[in-house]
Amino acid sequence: MTAEPVSAEYPAKPPVWLVDHLDQWRQRRVSGRAGHALIVMSQDVEEASLFCHLLAAQEFCAEASDGSACGQCPSCRAFGQGVHGDFCVVRRSDGKVSIGIDQIRQATQALQQTPLYGSIKVVLIEAADQMTLAAANSLLKILEEPPGNALVLLTTAAMWQLPPTVRSRCQRLPLPPPTADQAKHWLETERGMDAETARRALRLADGKVISAVMLEREGALSLYEALALSFDETDPSLGPPPIWSKVSAAALLEALLLCAERRGREAVLGRQPIGTDWLRLHSCLGELYDRVRRGATPAQDILVAEVYRLYRNCGHETFDSASSRFLTSLGRMDLTV
Ligand SMILES: [Zn+2]
Repeated sequence: MTAEPVSAEYPAKPPVWLVDHLDQWRQRRVSGRAGHALIVMSQDVEEASLFCHLLAAQEFCAEASDGSACGQCPSCRAFGQGVHGDFCVVRRSDGKVSIGIDQIRQATQALQQTPLYGSIKVVLIEAADQMTLAAANSLLKILEEPPGNALVLLTTAAMWQLPPTVRSRCQRLPLPPPTADQAKHWLETERGMDAETARRALRLADGKVISAVMLEREGALSLYEALALSFDETDPSLGPPPIWSKVSAAALLEALLLCAERRGREAVLGRQPIGTDWLRLHSCLGELYDRVRRGATPAQDILVAEVYRLYRNCGHETFDSASSRFLTSLGRMDLTV
Protein backbone atom coordinates (compact mmCIF):
# COMPACT_ATOMS: atom_id res chain seq x y z
CA MET A 1 0.00 0.00 0.00
CA THR A 2 1.50 3.33 -0.98
CA ALA A 3 1.35 6.41 1.19
CA GLU A 4 2.02 9.11 -1.40
CA PRO A 5 0.30 9.81 -4.70
CA VAL A 6 2.28 8.43 -7.61
CA SER A 7 2.45 11.97 -8.91
CA ALA A 8 0.79 15.28 -8.27
CA GLU A 9 -1.85 14.27 -10.80
CA TYR A 10 -2.45 10.59 -10.30
CA PRO A 11 -3.32 8.17 -7.47
CA ALA A 12 -0.61 5.79 -6.26
CA LYS A 13 -2.55 2.57 -5.97
CA PRO A 14 -2.92 0.88 -9.34
CA PRO A 15 -6.50 0.24 -10.45
CA VAL A 16 -7.21 -3.46 -10.14
CA TRP A 17 -7.45 -4.05 -13.90
CA LEU A 18 -3.92 -2.66 -14.41
CA VAL A 19 -2.11 -4.51 -11.62
CA ASP A 20 -1.33 -7.64 -13.63
CA HIS A 21 0.14 -5.62 -16.49
CA LEU A 22 2.40 -3.70 -14.12
CA ASP A 23 3.50 -6.90 -12.43
CA GLN A 24 4.16 -8.57 -15.78
CA TRP A 25 6.39 -5.67 -16.78
CA ARG A 26 8.29 -6.04 -13.51
CA GLN A 27 8.82 -9.73 -14.20
CA ARG A 28 10.04 -8.96 -17.72
CA ARG A 29 12.48 -6.43 -16.25
CA VAL A 30 13.78 -8.95 -13.74
CA SER A 31 14.24 -11.62 -16.42
CA GLY A 32 15.85 -9.18 -18.87
CA ARG A 33 13.00 -9.30 -21.39
CA ALA A 34 11.78 -5.73 -20.89
CA GLY A 35 12.60 -3.53 -23.84
CA HIS A 36 13.84 0.03 -23.83
CA ALA A 37 10.76 1.49 -25.53
CA LEU A 38 7.09 0.77 -24.95
CA ILE A 39 3.96 2.13 -26.61
CA VAL A 40 0.99 2.03 -24.25
CA MET A 41 -2.32 2.15 -26.11
CA SER A 42 -5.69 3.08 -24.65
CA GLN A 43 -8.76 4.89 -25.85
CA ASP A 44 -8.57 6.66 -22.47
CA VAL A 45 -5.38 8.68 -22.84
CA GLU A 46 -5.48 9.54 -19.15
CA GLU A 47 -5.49 5.82 -18.34
CA ALA A 48 -2.43 5.26 -20.54
CA SER A 49 -0.67 8.14 -18.83
CA LEU A 50 -1.59 6.88 -15.37
CA PHE A 51 -0.27 3.43 -16.29
CA CYS A 52 3.04 4.92 -17.47
CA HIS A 53 3.39 6.96 -14.27
CA LEU A 54 2.79 3.82 -12.21
CA LEU A 55 5.22 1.84 -14.35
CA ALA A 56 7.91 4.51 -14.05
CA ALA A 57 7.44 4.77 -10.27
CA GLN A 58 7.82 1.00 -10.10
CA GLU A 59 10.97 1.14 -12.24
CA PHE A 60 12.55 3.70 -9.93
CA CYS A 61 11.57 2.03 -6.65
CA ALA A 62 13.94 -0.53 -5.18
CA GLU A 63 11.19 -2.02 -3.01
CA ALA A 64 8.44 -2.40 -5.62
CA SER A 65 6.28 -5.51 -5.47
CA ASP A 66 2.97 -6.79 -6.81
CA GLY A 67 2.67 -4.02 -9.37
CA SER A 68 3.19 -1.18 -6.90
CA ALA A 69 6.04 1.10 -5.90
CA CYS A 70 6.62 1.22 -2.13
CA GLY A 71 5.62 4.87 -1.78
CA GLN A 72 8.08 5.40 1.08
CA CYS A 73 11.61 5.46 -0.29
CA PRO A 74 13.35 8.71 -1.35
CA SER A 75 12.69 7.91 -5.00
CA CYS A 76 8.97 7.32 -4.42
CA ARG A 77 8.63 10.48 -2.34
CA ALA A 78 10.31 12.58 -5.03
CA PHE A 79 8.13 10.97 -7.67
CA GLY A 80 4.99 11.66 -5.64
CA GLN A 81 5.94 15.31 -5.37
CA GLY A 82 6.55 15.56 -9.11
CA VAL A 83 10.24 16.37 -8.69
CA HIS A 84 11.93 13.07 -9.63
CA GLY A 85 15.14 13.95 -11.44
CA ASP A 86 15.17 10.81 -13.58
CA PHE A 87 11.65 11.23 -14.98
CA CYS A 88 10.80 13.53 -17.86
CA VAL A 89 7.30 14.02 -19.28
CA VAL A 90 6.81 15.41 -22.78
CA ARG A 91 3.39 16.60 -23.87
CA ARG A 92 1.99 19.11 -26.29
CA SER A 93 2.36 22.59 -24.85
CA ASP A 94 -0.67 24.82 -24.39
CA GLY A 95 -1.30 26.80 -27.54
CA LYS A 96 0.61 24.32 -29.73
CA VAL A 97 -0.87 21.83 -32.14
CA SER A 98 1.94 19.31 -31.94
CA ILE A 99 4.93 18.04 -29.97
CA GLY A 100 8.00 19.70 -31.47
CA ILE A 101 11.50 18.50 -32.25
CA ASP A 102 13.04 20.71 -29.54
CA GLN A 103 10.94 19.01 -26.88
CA ILE A 104 12.10 15.58 -28.04
CA ARG A 105 15.74 16.67 -28.24
CA GLN A 106 15.64 17.97 -24.67
CA ALA A 107 14.08 14.74 -23.46
CA THR A 108 16.56 12.50 -25.26
CA GLN A 109 19.45 14.57 -23.89
CA ALA A 110 18.07 13.94 -20.39
CA LEU A 111 18.25 10.21 -21.11
CA GLN A 112 22.00 10.48 -21.70
CA GLN A 113 22.68 11.72 -18.18
CA THR A 114 23.60 9.58 -15.20
CA PRO A 115 20.59 8.54 -13.10
CA LEU A 116 20.27 10.34 -9.77
CA TYR A 117 18.42 7.69 -7.79
CA GLY A 118 18.97 4.26 -9.25
CA SER A 119 19.99 2.81 -12.57
CA ILE A 120 17.40 4.13 -15.01
CA LYS A 121 16.15 7.30 -16.71
CA VAL A 122 12.60 7.39 -18.07
CA VAL A 123 11.01 9.65 -20.65
CA LEU A 124 7.24 9.61 -21.08
CA ILE A 125 5.83 11.10 -24.29
CA GLU A 126 2.09 11.61 -23.81
CA ALA A 127 -0.16 11.40 -26.87
CA ALA A 128 2.95 10.63 -28.93
CA ASP A 129 0.91 10.64 -32.15
CA GLN A 130 1.00 14.43 -31.80
CA MET A 131 4.74 14.50 -32.56
CA THR A 132 5.70 16.28 -35.76
CA LEU A 133 7.48 14.07 -38.28
CA ALA A 134 10.75 15.85 -37.47
CA ALA A 135 10.19 15.21 -33.75
CA ALA A 136 9.47 11.53 -34.42
CA ASN A 137 12.60 11.27 -36.57
CA SER A 138 14.71 12.80 -33.83
CA LEU A 139 13.36 10.15 -31.46
CA LEU A 140 14.47 7.34 -33.79
CA LYS A 141 18.14 7.67 -32.91
CA ILE A 142 17.49 7.00 -29.22
CA LEU A 143 15.18 4.10 -30.14
CA GLU A 144 17.85 2.59 -32.41
CA GLU A 145 20.78 3.07 -30.06
CA PRO A 146 19.35 3.49 -26.55
CA PRO A 147 21.68 4.16 -23.64
CA GLY A 148 21.70 1.13 -21.35
CA ASN A 149 19.71 2.87 -18.67
CA ALA A 150 17.01 4.45 -20.85
CA LEU A 151 13.33 3.69 -21.00
CA VAL A 152 11.05 5.55 -23.41
CA LEU A 153 7.31 5.31 -22.80
CA LEU A 154 4.82 6.55 -25.37
CA THR A 155 1.06 6.79 -24.96
CA THR A 156 -1.48 6.97 -27.74
CA ALA A 157 -5.11 6.45 -28.52
CA ALA A 158 -4.33 6.48 -32.24
CA MET A 159 -1.58 3.94 -32.90
CA TRP A 160 -1.88 4.24 -36.67
CA GLN A 161 -0.90 7.90 -36.49
CA LEU A 162 2.55 7.04 -35.20
CA PRO A 163 5.15 6.67 -37.96
CA PRO A 164 5.89 3.01 -38.81
CA THR A 165 9.57 3.68 -38.06
CA VAL A 166 8.65 4.48 -34.45
CA ARG A 167 6.10 1.68 -34.10
CA SER A 168 8.51 -0.95 -35.35
CA ARG A 169 11.15 -0.06 -32.74
CA CYS A 170 8.88 -0.27 -29.70
CA GLN A 171 7.14 -2.99 -27.76
CA ARG A 172 3.41 -2.46 -27.61
CA LEU A 173 0.92 -2.85 -24.81
CA PRO A 174 -2.81 -2.38 -25.43
CA LEU A 175 -4.45 -1.66 -22.10
CA PRO A 176 -7.74 -3.41 -21.48
CA PRO A 177 -10.57 -1.08 -20.50
CA PRO A 178 -12.22 -1.94 -17.19
CA THR A 179 -15.66 -3.46 -17.21
CA ALA A 180 -18.47 -1.04 -16.40
CA ASP A 181 -18.79 -2.60 -12.95
CA GLN A 182 -15.04 -2.41 -12.30
CA ALA A 183 -14.99 1.24 -13.31
CA LYS A 184 -17.94 2.19 -11.13
CA HIS A 185 -16.67 0.18 -8.16
CA TRP A 186 -13.19 1.70 -8.44
CA LEU A 187 -14.50 5.26 -8.57
CA GLU A 188 -16.64 4.63 -5.51
CA THR A 189 -14.20 2.69 -3.34
CA GLU A 190 -10.82 4.11 -4.37
CA ARG A 191 -11.75 7.62 -5.45
CA GLY A 192 -14.44 8.24 -2.85
CA MET A 193 -17.18 9.20 -5.29
CA ASP A 194 -20.77 8.52 -4.37
CA ALA A 195 -22.67 6.30 -6.78
CA GLU A 196 -24.42 9.17 -8.53
CA THR A 197 -21.23 11.18 -9.05
CA ALA A 198 -19.46 8.09 -10.40
CA ARG A 199 -22.30 7.45 -12.82
CA ARG A 200 -22.31 11.06 -14.04
CA ALA A 201 -18.53 11.21 -14.34
CA LEU A 202 -18.42 8.02 -16.39
CA ARG A 203 -21.19 9.24 -18.67
CA LEU A 204 -19.52 12.57 -19.27
CA ALA A 205 -16.15 10.94 -19.92
CA ASP A 206 -17.74 8.50 -22.34
CA GLY A 207 -16.94 5.56 -20.05
CA LYS A 208 -13.24 6.45 -19.84
CA VAL A 209 -12.65 5.95 -16.17
CA ILE A 210 -9.40 7.82 -15.57
CA SER A 211 -10.65 10.71 -17.67
CA ALA A 212 -13.72 10.65 -15.43
CA VAL A 213 -11.44 11.13 -12.42
CA MET A 214 -9.84 14.13 -14.08
CA LEU A 215 -13.21 15.69 -14.84
CA GLU A 216 -14.34 15.23 -11.27
CA ARG A 217 -11.08 16.59 -9.86
CA GLU A 218 -11.39 19.72 -11.92
CA GLY A 219 -14.83 20.38 -10.48
CA ALA A 220 -16.08 20.41 -14.01
CA LEU A 221 -18.79 17.82 -13.67
CA SER A 222 -21.71 20.19 -13.27
CA LEU A 223 -20.55 22.32 -16.15
CA TYR A 224 -19.89 19.46 -18.50
CA GLU A 225 -23.10 17.74 -17.56
CA ALA A 226 -25.11 20.88 -18.23
CA LEU A 227 -23.34 21.23 -21.57
CA ALA A 228 -23.92 17.58 -22.46
CA LEU A 229 -27.61 17.88 -21.63
CA SER A 230 -27.88 21.00 -23.76
CA PHE A 231 -26.87 18.99 -26.82
CA ASP A 232 -29.88 16.74 -26.35
CA GLU A 233 -32.36 19.45 -25.53
CA THR A 234 -31.73 22.00 -28.23
CA ASP A 235 -34.96 23.37 -29.58
CA PRO A 236 -34.36 24.95 -32.99
CA SER A 237 -36.95 27.64 -32.30
CA LEU A 238 -35.07 28.84 -29.21
CA GLY A 239 -31.62 29.25 -30.75
CA PRO A 240 -28.38 28.30 -29.03
CA PRO A 241 -28.79 27.10 -25.42
CA PRO A 242 -27.79 29.92 -23.02
CA ILE A 243 -25.06 27.83 -21.39
CA TRP A 244 -23.13 27.81 -24.67
CA SER A 245 -22.45 31.51 -24.15
CA LYS A 246 -21.53 31.14 -20.48
CA VAL A 247 -18.58 28.80 -20.90
CA SER A 248 -15.28 29.33 -22.65
CA ALA A 249 -15.03 28.57 -26.36
CA ALA A 250 -12.55 25.79 -25.56
CA ALA A 251 -14.88 24.17 -23.00
CA LEU A 252 -17.83 24.32 -25.39
CA LEU A 253 -15.83 22.86 -28.25
CA GLU A 254 -14.31 20.10 -26.11
CA ALA A 255 -17.75 19.01 -24.96
CA LEU A 256 -19.18 19.19 -28.46
CA LEU A 257 -16.25 17.19 -29.85
CA LEU A 258 -16.92 14.45 -27.30
CA CYS A 259 -20.61 14.46 -28.19
CA ALA A 260 -19.96 14.32 -31.96
CA GLU A 261 -17.40 11.54 -31.52
CA ARG A 262 -19.79 9.42 -29.46
CA ARG A 263 -22.76 9.94 -31.73
CA GLY A 264 -20.66 9.37 -34.82
CA ARG A 265 -19.34 6.11 -33.46
CA GLU A 266 -22.79 4.91 -32.43
CA ALA A 267 -24.26 5.81 -35.82
CA VAL A 268 -21.42 4.18 -37.79
CA LEU A 269 -21.70 1.00 -35.72
CA GLY A 270 -25.45 1.06 -36.33
CA ARG A 271 -24.83 1.63 -40.07
CA GLN A 272 -26.86 4.83 -39.97
CA PRO A 273 -26.07 7.29 -42.76
CA ILE A 274 -25.95 10.21 -40.30
CA GLY A 275 -22.70 8.77 -38.98
CA THR A 276 -20.70 10.46 -41.73
CA ASP A 277 -22.30 13.80 -40.82
CA TRP A 278 -21.31 13.44 -37.18
CA LEU A 279 -17.76 12.59 -38.17
CA ARG A 280 -17.64 15.57 -40.53
CA LEU A 281 -19.02 17.76 -37.75
CA HIS A 282 -16.27 16.41 -35.50
CA SER A 283 -13.70 17.33 -38.12
CA CYS A 284 -15.06 20.89 -38.50
CA LEU A 285 -15.16 21.43 -34.74
CA GLY A 286 -11.66 19.99 -34.42
CA GLU A 287 -10.36 22.56 -36.93
CA LEU A 288 -11.95 25.36 -34.95
CA TYR A 289 -10.75 23.94 -31.65
CA ASP A 290 -7.17 23.82 -32.91
CA ARG A 291 -7.38 27.48 -33.86
CA VAL A 292 -8.77 28.46 -30.48
CA ARG A 293 -6.02 26.46 -28.76
CA ARG A 294 -3.45 28.29 -30.88
CA GLY A 295 -4.72 31.62 -29.59
CA ALA A 296 -7.53 32.65 -31.94
CA THR A 297 -10.24 34.50 -30.02
CA PRO A 298 -13.32 34.77 -32.21
CA ALA A 299 -16.12 36.79 -30.69
CA GLN A 300 -18.12 34.44 -28.48
CA ASP A 301 -21.50 35.33 -29.94
CA ILE A 302 -20.26 34.72 -33.49
CA LEU A 303 -18.63 31.43 -32.52
CA VAL A 304 -21.73 30.19 -30.72
CA ALA A 305 -24.00 31.19 -33.61
CA GLU A 306 -21.78 29.55 -36.24
CA VAL A 307 -21.28 26.36 -34.25
CA TYR A 308 -24.98 26.13 -33.44
CA ARG A 309 -25.97 26.58 -37.08
CA LEU A 310 -23.63 23.79 -38.07
CA TYR A 311 -24.78 21.53 -35.23
CA ARG A 312 -28.44 21.98 -36.15
CA ASN A 313 -27.69 21.17 -39.77
CA CYS A 314 -26.11 17.80 -38.96
CA GLY A 315 -28.13 15.07 -40.64
CA HIS A 316 -29.91 17.44 -43.01
CA GLU A 317 -29.50 17.64 -46.79
CA THR A 318 -27.82 21.00 -46.43
CA PHE A 319 -25.08 19.75 -44.12
CA ASP A 320 -22.41 19.26 -46.79
CA SER A 321 -22.66 22.84 -47.98
CA ALA A 322 -23.06 24.16 -44.43
CA SER A 323 -19.92 22.38 -43.28
CA SER A 324 -17.97 23.64 -46.32
CA ARG A 325 -19.08 27.20 -45.55
CA PHE A 326 -18.09 26.69 -41.93
CA LEU A 327 -14.56 25.63 -42.85
CA THR A 328 -14.25 28.60 -45.22
CA SER A 329 -15.50 30.96 -42.51
CA LEU A 330 -12.71 29.90 -40.16
CA GLY A 331 -10.39 32.24 -42.05
CA ARG A 332 -12.68 35.15 -41.28
CA MET A 333 -12.83 34.11 -37.61
CA ASP A 334 -9.07 34.36 -37.39
CA LEU A 335 -9.29 37.97 -38.53
CA THR A 336 -11.27 38.83 -35.42
CA VAL A 337 -8.30 38.02 -33.15
ZN1 LIG B 1 9.79 3.14 -3.33
